[in-house]
Amino acid sequence: MSTDLANIIRSRLRAIADYPKAGIIYQDITPVLQDAILFRQVVAALAEPFLDSRVTHVIGIEARGFILGGAVATHLGAGFVPARKAGKLPWKTRSENYSLEYGEDSLEAHEDAFHHDDSRALIVDDVIATGGTARATGLLTRSLGATLVGWAFLLGLEELGGDELLEGAPVHTLVTV
Ligand code: AMP
Repeated sequence: MSTDLANIIRSRLRAIADYPKAGIIYQDITPVLQDAILFRQVVAALAEPFLDSRVTHVIGIEARGFILGGAVATHLGAGFVPARKAGKLPWKTRSENYSLEYGEDSLEAHEDAFHHDDSRALIVDDVIATGGTARATGLLTRSLGATLVGWAFLLGLEELGGDELLEGAPVHTLVTV
């Protein structure tokens, strides 16, 4: 990906202090999504290292991972699988717990999300912070029988070093702050 594109993305991210709670700097990606040309460039850049990886499914993490992941899936000619917060999916699910700063949370996917033995999944989300959510999605993907091809993020929060939690597949991050 070009340095120019990275700089444009960085300039369009909107950092909002103390949202959703005190002490958090929330990185709002909506200005990137609003721009037709930039949105298309971001989707292509997220997919780029995986063009030859024979990805059969993109698994997007609720909620902003749905927006980016759906677009990346069509770019790669892959299907889309939602990883959702507990209790949101209508059919039989498999779940994976993970730790938050305070307490625990879980993510779920449908049991039959990867119905072929040779499913190859790419995980997509907007932001990697501590890495706990992405790690849990990787465990969930593998427990459902898919080969994990990699993780792709628009933004990494560098000081939290979240990608150190992600093992066994490449991590692709467009920009870091
Ligand atoms: P983590 O498990 O700590 O890596 O958190 C990642 C998830 O939380 C992603 O789904 C992000 O959308 C969201 N998230 C965490 N921190 C931020 C932040 N500072 N700004 C926007 N989204 C965030």
